[in-house]
Amino acid sequence: MTTREIDLECWICGEQFVGEEPRSYAVVGRGSDLCPKPLDQNPLPLMLHTCPGCGFTGDGRTFHASQADEQVREWVLAGGLAEAARQVPDSGYARYELAALCHGRRRRVSALQLAEYYLAASWSAQLEQAEDVAPQYQAEAAKHLERALLVDEVADEERAVMTYLVGELRRRLGEFEAALQLFDEAAIQFTQHGGPTWLLRALGQQAGLAKEGSADPAPLASSG
Ligand SMILES: [Zn+2]
Repeated sequence: MTTREIDLECWICGEQFVGEEPRSYAVVGRGSDLCPKPLDQNPLPLMLHTCPGCGFTGDGRTFHASQADEQVREWVLAGGLAEAARQVPDSGYARYELAALCHGRRRRVSALQLAEYYLAASWSAQLEQAEDVAPQYQAEAAKHLERALLVDEVADEERAVMTYLVGELRRRLGEFEAALQLFDEAAIQFTQHGGPTWLLRALGQQAGLAKEGSADPAPLASSG
């Protein structure tokens, strides 16, 4: 993995600092929940930045001045974020949880952005061998991704994959009936809007596991 430095300025407290983010990195595959399997170093922790002044946490885009939000600012300055940060461990996955909490305070909340943060938290937990905390993040990711699909935040060409992903998260959580319904729905979305070729094979494989009542994180059949 190679990284680059970026200059950031916090729109909450005015702190200026230098962040580091991945310039390029290699993955050797993805799990059935699309969790990237990094070739060497895990890039996920470097995709978030935390202001050293106030603790505000988010991806690089979140720090743009255009993203300033008065509700978030008031919450952070009133100590809400510091309180939340005291209750989570110092880990990569918990930083994604804090980023989600910061986003959730916005006047306009994006369900898709929340889903992305919680999904990355669940991936990070797995990559950090903290599998016991992954389910709570998978449940949050599934809930917000379902919402994002419902309110049309997901582009047509992404709908089949995202519907599959909600189904796979439900299967991992042991909610097999819901998973099977979502896999069927994903197949319909694939017919309507298309999708990557690996998806149909994944749908068949993961539906088979759901029918067996298996919540195991089985790897995807190799894609062509
Ligand atoms: Zn700050």
